[in-house]
Amino acid sequence: MRLSEEDKNLINNSIRDIQDFPKEGIVFKDITTLLNNKEAYSTLMDHLEDRYKSYNLDYVAGIDSRGFIFGAALADRLNIGFVPVRKKGKLPSTTVCEKYELEYGYDEVEIHLDAFPKKNPNVLLIDDLVATGGTATAASKLIKKIDANLIEACFILNLTFLDGVKKIEKHTKVYSVLDI
Ligand code: AMP
Repeated sequence: MRLSEEDKNLINNSIRDIQDFPKEGIVFKDITTLLNNKEAYSTLMDHLEDRYKSYNLDYVAGIDSRGFIFGAALADRLNIGFVPVRKKGKLPSTTVCEKYELEYGYDEVEIHLDAFPKKNPNVLLIDDLVATGGTATAASKLIKKIDANLIEACFILNLTFLDGVKKIEKHTKVYSVLDI
């Protein structure tokens, strides 16, 4: 089911812009004001549940750290498991790792080697926002590395001017709730 314009506006207006955070020139999209707005949050989660209930998913994988909030809530609604994709050094058991480039230098994300107990599972990847697409591309590669079927990558917000979706679409389908 598509979101109505009214529901899109409710969600969009609940996300606050913070100028120059974490550094000058960046407009940070603050989703804490979506989470503390029960109408906006439940409208969003109803929409995601409705979209993904027929996808035959086995797991939702969320990206560190705001992807955990939406991903864990969605997994529970779909009655399936949740798997975290974390920044390097946070996961305690054996991991696989993927490096990706930042503006200056690089970062790494990891997933537990045994993250998906079910064989050949259908997995949805989720994060709050796609900017350059580097993080989600690396997370997509990780999920495929451990033999899962990555069905789609989902974002609440897509910063379209950065064209990150193009990068991710080389690895999986992409759905964003709001394009800005
Ligand atoms: P990227 O790898 O460039 O697509 O960056 C995506 C990751 O960085 C996501 O986990 C976002 O939460 C975070 N991020 C990047 N830019 C912003 C922004 N302007 N506002 C909030 N979060 C951001």
